Formats: sequence, C-alpha cells, structure tokens
Amino acid sequence: MLDRLRRREIVSERARRLPRIASMQSFDVEVRGAGIVGKSLALSLAGIGLDVALRGGPAQASEDVRAYALSPSSIALLRRLGVWDSLASDAKTAVHDMVVHGDAAGGVLEFSAWQQCVAELAVITDAAALERALDAAIAAAPRATRVDTDVTASLVAHCEGRAAATLAALGAMTTFERSDTGQRAIAARIVASLPHRHVARQWFRSPDVVALLPFDRPERERSYAFVWSLPRERADALLALDAAAFERELAAAAGAEAGALSLASARAAWPLVVGSAAAWSGRGWVLVGDAAHVVHPLAGQGLNLGLADVAALTAVIAGREPWRALGDERLLRRYERQRAAPTWAMRQMTDGLLRLFAASSAPIRELRNNGMGLVNRIAPLKRWLTGRALDS
Ligand SMILES: Cc1cc2nc3c(=O)[nH]c(=O)nc-3n(C[C@H](O)[C@H](O)[C@H](O)COP(=O)(O)OP(=O)(O)OC[C@H]3O[C@@H](n4cnc5c(N)ncnc54)[C@H](O)[C@@H]3O)c2cc1C
Repeated sequence: MLDRLRRREIVSERARRLPRIASMQSFDVEVRGAGIVGKSLALSLAGIGLDVALRGGPAQASEDVRAYALSPSSIALLRRLGVWDSLASDAKTAVHDMVVHGDAAGGVLEFSAWQQCVAELAVITDAAALERALDAAIAAAPRATRVDTDVTASLVAHCEGRAAATLAALGAMTTFERSDTGQRAIAARIVASLPHRHVARQWFRSPDVVALLPFDRPERERSYAFVWSLPRERADALLALDAAAFERELAAAAGAEAGALSLASARAAWPLVVGSAAAWSGRGWVLVGDAAHVVHPLAGQGLNLGLADVAALTAVIAGREPWRALGDERLLRRYERQRAAPTWAMRQMTDGLLRLFAASSAPIRELRNNGMGLVNRIAPLKRWLTGRALDS
C-alpha cells in the first residue's frame, strides 16, 4: 500500500516538474536592460527576497568616458546595494562648489555645499567603474540571475533606456512622446593646468552648454570630465577636428578658470532627445529610468531620476499587501504616482533653462543676467533650488 502511494507521489512530482523543464525558467521579476538602472533594480529587488532575472543588451564596444554627477540620494541607494564603497577612491570625486556662468555679459550663480549644510553637492562618479562594480555585485547576488533567453515572470521591468525596443514590446499599452533637441552632447576626460579644487563649472553660451566636472582620473586634483551640448552640425565639425584644434575650441567655450585644457581620452557623442512615456505601468509591466523619461543632461539628473525610480519601486513592492500580486496594476500605479511629480518638475526645469539660455535678444539677456544675480543673492531661494537637485 505504502509502495503504491510512494509511486503515485513520484509520478505526480514528475508530472508537476515536466512542464517547467520543458517550458521557460520562471522568476518573480524579469528586468530587461542591464544599464546602471537595470542592474541596480535587479540587485535591489533581489535584496528584498525576490528571484530576479536580468536580461542584458549587447555589451558596449568601448568603455564609457562619461562621469555622472550623482546626488546624495543616489549614493545612499548604491551604498545600500553594497556597490558604492567598493568603488576606488579616484573613481568618485566630491563637488563642494558649483559655479554657473551665463553669457559673456555676466550673470553668475554660485552654489556651495557649505551653504546647503551638506558634505557635498554631488559626487562625480566614473561611469565604467560603476558599471563594473554593479556587475560584480550581481555575480555575487544569490537571487539575481543573468539570462539571455526568454523567461516567465510575474512582473517585467523595462530598463532598456531610450531604446525604441521597449515601445515595440509594449505595443499599444503606452506611447513615448519624444522630441529631438537637434543637439548632441560630446563627452571626454581632460587634464587642466590648474587644480579643480572640487568646483564644478557650467557655462550657458547660447546655444552651447559646457560643463566641467572635477574628477580625479586620470590625474588627481587636475582632471575634469566634460559634457558639451551643442547643435548637431557644430558637434560633428568639432568631432572631426584633431585634438589640438578641439582643445582650443573647448578652451574658448569654457573660459580661463580651469587653465589650459588637454584631452585625456577619446571623445564620444550622444544625440540629445528628451521625452517621457504616457503611461509607466500596466498589468505585469513597469518602466524604470530612461525607458520612462529622458531629460537633457545639462542638469546632470537623468541617472539620479532613474535611481530614485529604483528606490521607489523597491519600497512599493516591499510594502505591498501580502495578497497583492507583483504584477498588480494598482500596486505599480503607486510607484508611477510617486515618481511622476519629481520627474515632471525636473523636465520643466531643464527645458526651461534650455529655453531661457537659448534666447539671444538683448532685453532677455539682460533680464537673465539680472535674474541670475538676484537669485545668487537670495540664499533661501538658492537653498531651495539646490535642494530640488539633491533630492531628485
Ligand atoms: C553626455 C551625457 C551625460 C550625462 N550625465 C549625467 C549626469 O551627470 N548625471 C545623471 O544623473 N545623468 C546623466 N546622464 C543621463 C544618464 O546617462 C541616463 O539617464 C542613464 O544612463 C539612464 O540609465 P538607464 O539604465 O535607464 O538606460 P541606459 O544607460 O540607456 O541603459 C539601457 C540598457 O538596456 C540595454 N538594452 C536596450 N535595448 C534592449 C533590449 N531590447 N533588450 C535588453 N537590453 C536592452 C542597453 O544595451 C543598455 O545596456 C547623462 C547623459 C548623457 C548623454
């Protein structure tokens, strides 16, 4: 009798297993897109006990020359994920002060960590080093698995960046309103003849925006990562110049504060589109990071917004009612509601700045320079503005 029962158990166990073996692997969450946001989300959700599949895109052919200005909230998340402290000290450089210059006629805005009562305004972080640290953490995380084939999951988190593949996958469920700014951003590393003193500098020279971010690679205290946004045709012409001619153009755009500037890496360029998805979630799917929203890099906030999405989605999922499924639309809408306002505000701010500094008529230029001078003298307003950037 016992034998018969045992045989029946074995047969039903096999029957239960067979379809799983024959069909796809099953997970709680599939994260599609292994950029910084996708990897952070996979780690974060694995950290609250979910089984996560991370599906990566094609590996980058060359190392990313960008360095990101990360906010204290992003750093706190990366620290919780066990990634931040594993970065080498020269892969992260604190920004203590920031100076924003208007056009040649004047207009300067100065922000300082001291005024804001924080240790630093941001930390400039090596993009490639951060990617590698996240890869190592994923490899060590027992509940996060890299996959390269289809899997089944209760929830699919789209983190494919601004790639159109997300839209194709979601069909009619959402649309992405996208506008091409007609600009490209050139980024590279430079070494300056004067020490950076942990000061980030930005010039709004309509229509160009140049940012020099203090960075300790390749030379401690003397290097910068720069991002130069400018009209596509001019960007292409600058990229075609040899190093010496390019350095002269950069020095003319950036002014003399940093001293003489020499290129210390290859130059790379990105087309600048901005936009956001009409809906960020639905039954069984959610958009995170650049897949949901793309802002202009002039405020250095795109990744900060994406990492704030990761923190918000993790908190919403961790706090769900025990009976609520991971792919429940109402649950995912909580995340969308939390993130909509700060993302919209950041988009308005960056679009507004672009429009303000693109205007070249004399009265608007004067108003702009006077306005910058005024804001610079009103400490509470400056604190409020900085607070928005620190909290994104
Ligand atoms: C020049 C420049 C400077 C910037 N500086 C800053 C800064 O200082 N601070 C800041 O906060 N932000 C900055 N940003 C913005 C920041 O780069 C982005 O917001 C951030 O990289 C978005 O990360 P993500 O992981 O969402 O998307 P991505 O970095 O685009 O990653 C998407 C990943 O998905 C993969 N993928 C695509 N399609 C598929 C598919 N079908 N299947 C599987 N995988 C797929 C891709 O290969 C990629 O690995 C800057 C942007 C630019 C262009």
